[in-house]
Amino acid sequence: MNKALYDKEIQCPVCKNLFHTKKMRSSAIRIEKRDTDFCVYYNGENPIFYGVFVCPNCGYAALESVFQEISPSGKKIVLEKIGTKWTQRDFGSERDAYKAIEVYKLALLNGQLLNQKKGIIGTLCLRLAWLYRYIHEDRELDFIEHAANCFEEAFRYESLPIGNLDEVSLLYLLGELNRRLKKYDEAIDWFNKAVSNPNIKRKRKLDMLARDQWSLAKEEYKKQKEKNEAIVYAENEALI
Ligand SMILES: [Zn+2]
Repeated sequence: MNKALYDKEIQCPVCKNLFHTKKMRSSAIRIEKRDTDFCVYYNGENPIFYGVFVCPNCGYAALESVFQEISPSGKKIVLEKIGTKWTQRDFGSERDAYKAIEVYKLALLNGQLLNQKKGIIGTLCLRLAWLYRYIHEDRELDFIEHAANCFEEAFRYESLPIGNLDEVSLLYLLGELNRRLKKYDEAIDWFNKAVSNPNIKRKRKLDMLARDQWSLAKEEYKKQKEKNEAIVYAENEALI
């Protein structure tokens, strides 16, 4: 038996079914390292795998933090669009990255049908990107792109914070996600907003990280520009 995990009983707000899902004891979480887009690697069990609850009876799935927040019309949508097609299966046992990808995709499907906030959809997409990174699959970048688009909309139209992401962390993250997508001019713009936000002074680590990634994006932008110019020059030279 895995001692880092315990069973939590949940009542599905859609179909009222009672089910169990694994959760990780916070005392058992051991952080190994972090990537520059806040992706965390753990020694031992990974709590991200258990961040989504799935009702085995009706297929309703959502992030733990919003699982109970569903309106009466939302319940109808889930029952009609998912419940009627759902093959009953249980995600209440231990999960690996592959199982986690499955549950996060179910939560994403539910979230899209329910028109959940872009901040929530962005969080699901970012975690899907990380899950693909853990297993070294290229689909990571598709989800980085979805996450960047959702977070940008959330930044413009929704109230903050998004989970642990306050305004300045979100500005930084938008810079870093765009940098990873090689959209260097946009990345520089977001990093610029992050480092000139007065609240970053209260977060020394983030301030340093933002400045490092900002200059990295500027270097990469310069290289990309030089490379493009060289390609255009070579093309034109071939005309002689
Ligand atoms: Zn249910």
